[in-house]
Amino acid sequence: MSTNSKPQDDAEILDAIEQWAEKELRPVARKFDHADEYPHEIVEQMKSLGLFGATIGEAYGGLGLSASTYAKIVVKVSSIWMAPCGIFNSHLIMAAAIERAGTEEQKRHWLPRMASGEFRGGIGLTEANAGSDLQAICTVAKREGDDYVVNGSKMWITNSLHGQGILLLVKTDPKAEPRYKGMSLLIAPKGDGFKVSKLKKLGYRSIDSCEVHLQDYRVPASHLLGGVEGKGFIQTASGLELGRINVAARGAGIGEGALLLALRYAQERSAFGKSISNHQAIQLKLADMVTQVEGAKHLIEAAARRYDAGERCDLEAAMAKLAGSEAGVFCSQEAMRIFGGYSYSVEYDIERFYRDSLLMCIGEGSNEILRQVIAKQLIERHPA
Ligand SMILES: Cc1cc2nc3c(=O)[nH]c(=O)nc-3n(C[C@H](O)[C@H](O)[C@H](O)COP(=O)(O)OP(=O)(O)OC[C@H]3O[C@@H](n4cnc5c(N)ncnc54)[C@H](O)[C@@H]3O)c2cc1C
Repeated sequence: MSTNSKPQDDAEILDAIEQWAEKELRPVARKFDHADEYPHEIVEQMKSLGLFGATIGEAYGGLGLSASTYAKIVVKVSSIWMAPCGIFNSHLIMAAAIERAGTEEQKRHWLPRMASGEFRGGIGLTEANAGSDLQAICTVAKREGDDYVVNGSKMWITNSLHGQGILLLVKTDPKAEPRYKGMSLLIAPKGDGFKVSKLKKLGYRSIDSCEVHLQDYRVPASHLLGGVEGKGFIQTASGLELGRINVAARGAGIGEGALLLALRYAQERSAFGKSISNHQAIQLKLADMVTQVEGAKHLIEAAARRYDAGERCDLEAAMAKLAGSEAGVFCSQEAMRIFGGYSYSVEYDIERFYRDSLLMCIGEGSNEILRQVIAKQLIERHPA
């Protein structure tokens, strides 16, 4: 992760993103979400802002932002509308894997195209029967001459319809033991045999999370990430810390957005002759909400700083992801109660925050698994 950018530049970038999100995202979020329509014009604006290259190194045409600054961008955007973050987030996770594990030739070929947004990617890991247990995937890539021939299918792959390709986790040796040694990552641009079907979702609408069917799909062997078979699981796992910081930021952003909507509503709404913000029961909710959001933001910053310093941060990233995603769910749920009957109206934005928040507990390690990661490290660090 590059930390080349200067604090002043970062402040300017954050300011520009904040202004864009308020001016361009807020007015259209409800419309796109309800129509479940892909926001093409927003994607064009995100290209101009440099968001598709936010964390890609400057040497490859990106902004080279630190994880810390990037997380602040994600919190801000998610406090208005989380879904567009998914478009650049999944893309940047693919780019980070190429930058971390790719050959120099792969970096030079793919990263400048990704930084400009010309090639928008995503991550193809999950299958219908393999999510948390990724070593159980069944998609197989067989070497035939200068190509791999891929057969199988992937589930829930963000950016797979409107993007140009994905980083695809496959088995190159399905019989390998332990299982992870037979796994590889392929840089997989769309082509013959790569078919996509859109899935309908509770939330995180407008964004294309789809099923991807691969039937005799050919990809050049030069697209094997890092040029060596059998490294795919480790290459995937080494991206988890950054991925978790990003999801944490999306959750905290949803929480902050829900809090701000609820705070304004509580001040405007009256019951029993006074603003409901003066009722103690509502104040208790607001206090718990802001405490959860600010606590999560501190954990995110702590994890991101360690990541930027090149230090181990698996525990910190797991705690940040747990706290951020749970803050999103807690705050949007409490905000729903503060909005009373109007929370149930699709004329208000709060129901979208509630629907979107639930996803943050699932991806990049479910919160059940993350609690185990945290507890395991806690026990290891404090032996009896
Ligand atoms: C909208 C959306 C977008 C997504 N985008 C992508 C994407 O772009 N790319 C991609 O690859 N994937 C994507 N995913 C998939 C997501 O990463 C998986 O859903 C997630 O990893 C969980 O896997 P699963 O759904 O198979 O659940 P499972 O792994 O089957 O888990 C089901 C339940 O069992 C629990 N569980 C499982 N194992 C354990 C254990 N060892 N201990 C305790 N509890 C356990 C889980 O916590 C969960 O509660 C997306 C999912 C959604 C819904």
